Amino acid sequence: MTTPSTYQRFHSICVFCGSADGLEPQFLHAASSMGALLAQRKIQLVYGGGKTGMMGAVADGALHMGGTVIGIVPENLNLPSLIHESLTHLEITPDMHSRKARMSALADAFIALPGGFGTLEELFETLTWAQIGLHQKPIGILNTGGYYDPLLDMVNQAISHGFIYSEHRALLIDAPAPEILLEKMERFISPVNLERWVNR
Ligand code: AMP
Repeated sequence: MTTPSTYQRFHSICVFCGSADGLEPQFLHAASSMGALLAQRKIQLVYGGGKTGMMGAVADGALHMGGTVIGIVPENLNLPSLIHESLTHLEITPDMHSRKARMSALADAFIALPGGFGTLEELFETLTWAQIGLHQKPIGILNTGGYYDPLLDMVNQAISHGFIYSEHRALLIDAPAPEILLEKMERFISPVNLERWVNR
C-alpha cells in the first residue's frame, strides 16, 4: 500500500491535445473536465495556447474554475484565428523547437489528451526524453472512451518484439478519467534500470 509521503504534488502540468474542430462531445467534455480538475487542485496548466478543439476546451475548463493557464506559441502560429484571447499569460517563442523546450521546462508532469499527429509527436518526444534519462517527470495519457487502446496495443506489440524494453512501459501512465489519471501520476515512481537504453 502506498503511503501519503510517496505522493508528489504538482505545481504545473503541460497538456498536449488535439486542435481539430468538430470533435465528438465526449472528447471536448473530457478536455474541459481535465482543465477544471487542474484548476481545482491549483495546478497551473501549460499548453499550446490555442482556442480550437481540445486545446480550447482544456483552457476554458481551467479558466472557468479560476485556474492559471499559460499558453506557449511559436510566432508563426500566433494568429487571431488560432490563439485563445483570455489566457493568464501568452508567451511567444521564435520557433517550434524553443516552444517545446519552454513547455517542458515549465512543467513538472505531462498529460496527453486525445489528439492527432501534433499530440502524438509531443507525447512521444517527451517519452523518448524520459527513456534516455533527460527527465523523470510523470507522463500520462487520458484514454477517453478507449481512444488510446490501439496505441497501447502498439506499445505492447513493440515490447513483445523487443523494440521497447519492458521496463520502459511504466513511463507511460494511462487512465480513462482525469481524477484517476492524476492520482496515478501523483504516485508515479520513475522505473529503475532505465539506463539500459544508454548503457550497453
Ligand atoms: P494535433 O494533435 O495534430 O491537433 O496537434 C495538437 C498539438 O500541436 C497541441 O498539443 C499543440 O501543442 C500543437 N498545436 C496545434 N495547433 C496549435 C496552435 N494553434 N497553437 C499552438 N500549438 C498548436
